[in-house]
Amino acid sequence: MIELDGALGEGGGQILRSALTLAMITGRPFRIRNIRANRAKPGLMRQHLVAVQAALRVCGGEATGAALGSQDLAFVPGPVTGGDYEFAIGTAGSCTLVLQTVLPALLKADKPSTLRLAGGTHNPMAPPVQFLQRAWCPRLAEMGACIDIDLERFGFYPTGGGIVDARVEPCTALQPRTWMTRGEPRAAYAEAFVAGVPERVAQRELECVGRAMHWSGNQLLIRGLPADQGPGNALMLTLDHEHATEVFTAFGAKSVTSEEVAHQVVRRTRQYLESRAVFAEYLADQMMLPLALAGGGGFTLDEVSMHARTNAQVIETFLPVRFTFGRWDGVDSCTVERTNTKGLRA
Ligand code: ATP
Repeated sequence: MIELDGALGEGGGQILRSALTLAMITGRPFRIRNIRANRAKPGLMRQHLVAVQAALRVCGGEATGAALGSQDLAFVPGPVTGGDYEFAIGTAGSCTLVLQTVLPALLKADKPSTLRLAGGTHNPMAPPVQFLQRAWCPRLAEMGACIDIDLERFGFYPTGGGIVDARVEPCTALQPRTWMTRGEPRAAYAEAFVAGVPERVAQRELECVGRAMHWSGNQLLIRGLPADQGPGNALMLTLDHEHATEVFTAFGAKSVTSEEVAHQVVRRTRQYLESRAVFAEYLADQMMLPLALAGGGGFTLDEVSMHARTNAQVIETFLPVRFTFGRWDGVDSCTVERTNTKGLRA
């Protein structure tokens, strides 16, 4: 039984989610204590509990300690089985984080799977659905994985109520890949999503982005949504380059002006553009597990987060791989290599 400390490094929910995915794929049981020890409200929140329940459904395993607020969980996986699954988070807890927990395991299933998730689709602390569609899934497709994601209904924090559908085909082996240079820029645009929020909010956000990024006309798009999918407002900047797409998002909130929302996302987008890296911080931490499963690869990244370093440690606990954070052509980089059983490079 692998023993994990949920207080490791960042001490957040990713330690649990990566462990669930890797346990399903490797068949190795684990126990985690101090779940989300470094968060204000430690233990399993709805999103984490549904991730555990989803993993149990997908692999028919057994768990003890799977309850809201629990800080101690033991998980014994069974064999992953493809099929049609529905999971309801019941709050604005993130559908995308639950999806990212089970999708890599379902790539190893005996047959295709469909998933339908109800909950949050646009939360400040999780990938928005478009991030998965534009940034994450296409990179996985380059590694041989066939995953389709549809956003049926938006679910903004704190109300939730969104619906996401996914379809995944089995993939015998993910292929190693490297992404070191972005290549030529292809498209850049901003979208202001508003549901039950006045359209002038979207207009002000986009005017601000337009001025700051020198974007205009068809690069600035208002996406009005039915009011019953709100209230919610997300401002999303998408940068499409030859070798990768990045998506940066900021969220409107009552106490925050449209200009502040725009400045937040513009600041983050500029940091990425100036870095010359292929992946920004979030896509970087989300590509680590698939690359480790492929047994090798790497990328340049604009920020090496504590989240990424912690994820590396969890992945190295389950798989014979070693992550290295270094520099490549003046840019931060992350590489993963297979090791032999003694933890030395193969
Ligand atoms: P907690 O940290 O409270 O335990 P958690 O389990 O929801 O919460 P984290 O462990 O912090 O979350 O993981 C959040 C994940 O969401 C990370 O993989 C990160 O890359 C991703 N993420 C967060 N915000 C964004 C965003 N704006 N765009 C894309 N991905 C995001």
